[in-house]
Amino acid sequence: MDTKVLNGKIIAEELEANISSRVKAYVEKYGKAPLLVTIMVGEDPGSKMYVKMKAKACDRVGISNRVVYLDDTITTEGLLDMIDELNNDEDVDGILIQHPLPRTIDEKMCFDAIALEKDIDGVNSKSFGAVTMGQDAYSAATPAGIMEILKYYDIDVTGKHAVVVGRSPILGKPISMLLLNGDATVTICHSKTQNLADILKTADIVVAACGKPEFIQRDWLKEGVVLIDAGYNKGNIGDISKDAYEIASAYTPVPGGVGPMTITKVLEHTIDSAEKKHELKLIKKLK
Ligand code: NAP
Repeated sequence: MDTKVLNGKIIAEELEANISSRVKAYVEKYGKAPLLVTIMVGEDPGSKMYVKMKAKACDRVGISNRVVYLDDTITTEGLLDMIDELNNDEDVDGILIQHPLPRTIDEKMCFDAIALEKDIDGVNSKSFGAVTMGQDAYSAATPAGIMEILKYYDIDVTGKHAVVVGRSPILGKPISMLLLNGDATVTICHSKTQNLADILKTADIVVAACGKPEFIQRDWLKEGVVLIDAGYNKGNIGDISKDAYEIASAYTPVPGGVGPMTITKVLEHTIDSAEKKHELKLIKKLK
């Protein structure tokens, strides 16, 4: 089988170049760069690493990056006050809450407190609802990245049977809605799904997002399937068994497939948000 490798790294680099030139034009026009604020609570080493990676990515494209470090003794109320302040700060274009948050904090309440126009990571329930209804809002970054990969490689999802394995709020659910909006026929599977292998056998496109190393097996899949592996497990291992690539028409490698797209989409949403802020100001002025 002639198998295409869906290289997210190349797409992310091209997108970053485009974001950089948009940011440059934005700075020339408005005198300052868009601002992304990340809230980091506590000392989780994994979260710290992601925050650093995002800061580096912001530097690469010229987006200003501010990290608010908070002690893990902060309460939900304290965090909500902080979010409120950032929502009302005109200089802030994107707000990102690094998760997971400590268990003492009502994570969902905090996500839902982010203003829709600054929710560049699509964690707010209203963002999810709006994206689902095909309205203007930011989708969660990883699903947005997956759709970008499909678009880049001209993989038309219309009428295709897409099976999503996983239903998390940041990945499985939003990618299912984006595929549905793209006219795919979508089946969402999860840990209670019966006959998963039988369902997967009918899939034209599989999105693996269950967080289980090499869980999806070659003999559960049909020849010619498109494999999108969003899984990222210890040791750079995806959720799909690597020998399944041989029967696929296309697949995203791990690493270098879906992974690089996530931060790039956060950057893109931030410049989108900054540009929209000024468009809205102009519309208000003209009224
Ligand atoms: P999650 O919140 O743990 O959700 C996992 C989902 O998989 C749940 O919906 C769960 O079902 C389902 N699941 C678990 N066992 C299953 C089984 N045996 N059969 C079918 N479904 C099963 O994980 P997540 O945050 O969505 O992340 C999923 C994977 O993507 C992880 O490997 C993560 O590292 C990766 N990820 C990558 C990126 C990136 O930037 N590339 C971003 C985010 C996540 P229930 O709902 O029934 O529990």
